[in-house]
Amino acid sequence: MSLWFDTARSHRITSLPGHLRRRAPLLIDVLPENDLVRHHVNLSRKNLCVDSSFYPLGSCTMKYSSKAGEAAAAERGFFQAHPWQPDTEVQGVLAVLAELQADLAALTGMDAVCLYPAAGAHGELCALKAARQYFRLKKDTGRLEVLVPENAHGTNPASASMAGLRVVVVKMNSAGRVDLPDLRAKLSNRTAVLMLTNPNTLGLFETDIESIAREVHAAGGLLYYDGANLNAILGRVRPGDMGFDMVHVNLHKTFSIPHGAGGPGAGPIGVKAHLAPCLPGPYLTKSMFGHVWTPAGTESIGRFHSAYGNFLNLMKAWVYLRLLGDDGARRVSLAAVLNANYLQEKIKQILPVPYGAGRCMHEFVASAQTIKENFGVSAMDIAKRILDEGIYAPTVYFPLLVREALMIEPTETERRETLDHFVALMKLIVEEAAAHPDRLHDAPVRQPVRRVDEVRAARHPILK
Ligand SMILES: *Cc1c(COP(=O)(O)O)cnc(C)c1O
Repeated sequence: MSLWFDTARSHRITSLPGHLRRRAPLLIDVLPENDLVRHHVNLSRKNLCVDSSFYPLGSCTMKYSSKAGEAAAAERGFFQAHPWQPDTEVQGVLAVLAELQADLAALTGMDAVCLYPAAGAHGELCALKAARQYFRLKKDTGRLEVLVPENAHGTNPASASMAGLRVVVVKMNSAGRVDLPDLRAKLSNRTAVLMLTNPNTLGLFETDIESIAREVHAAGGLLYYDGANLNAILGRVRPGDMGFDMVHVNLHKTFSIPHGAGGPGAGPIGVKAHLAPCLPGPYLTKSMFGHVWTPAGTESIGRFHSAYGNFLNLMKAWVYLRLLGDDGARRVSLAAVLNANYLQEKIKQILPVPYGAGRCMHEFVASAQTIKENFGVSAMDIAKRILDEGIYAPTVYFPLLVREALMIEPTETERRETLDHFVALMKLIVEEAAAHPDRLHDAPVRQPVRRVDEVRAARHPILK
């Protein structure tokens, strides 16, 4: 059982100097394969995941992760490539990175793409630091404010303050979109960046985006597109064309690579040409010898991740785009928006959808407020009850604009039968809330872990 610790094989990497190679076998306890497999299969069974069930976790874009991507990332040439191998030995790896950069630039309408950031929040931090550097180089150092709408994802204000910038909250209007007069009042020569998610977290497109972009630029600020979730616009509308200067995309959302336990994520950023010199280096360039790493110039904010970034995940996104083909991206957004609207219309017959008068984009937000008032059953109770039916729960209590929020995002990878099954279960659960509210308070009863006491967990955490 030395499959993973085959020292003889690793010694075949001839470019590793002799004095750095292992001289004795690695001493690691080994288990029989069956014990190891059973341990992991049993652990995985305690979890609901996209491979086992529908996972309508709004804003998180839990789409199916194709196994073709996993297979490609497990190819030895990719998976055993060492970050410090000479460029000439890893041309295939570098070609994947270069092509992915070009694909993401084309899809977002940006001039330069940086693949280093390891998550959406990491991308936000990276781009905001680049923006700060941009203003520093222009000697416009008074711009330290980041405008963030009140329904923004929590990472936006967190990243802004990590980048040493001040957060200014912009109000939303009654239609669930940026309140233009409030935005105008908050724009000034202190504005560095407006961060915007479009479609926003209510699943609504900011129809005023062109005037928003014009006004922010007129005030001397930059526009940042939180493209963690690009599913609604993929192949149709590009942040760069809407007037944005910077964007991050979550490969673990829109581009289908696994989230969380599936491995680390990846949150590449794209910028327009005026910000490109501030991006972290080294840069991937093309020379007569093929792809090479080139050190960044003095305008760069420096390194943001070791080596190539989370390469194997970048690889899976590259495969996803190859599987989609040229117009596949357009079919992704078509199906994602169609699925969300289909579900919104069905769910509206069961629960109120406060901003659901018109069409939604890739997701929508239902409210359990009336159920709570009438039967004492909360969004959390409903979410826990769905787990017992073997389906993961929608996002709850976000965005804060909707009380008892249940944020639902089906993604493009689910078929109609699955959506209908979910609707039937939601109907059953809402009926149950009226007839047997305690069943919902007690849920889940059929999962390996029952309802956790969140207050106690926070007050008396057991960390090991
Ligand atoms: C998920 C998400 C993020 C954060 O991405 P992480 O990879 O979890 O850091 C930021 N903004 C929006 C809109 C998101 O949905």
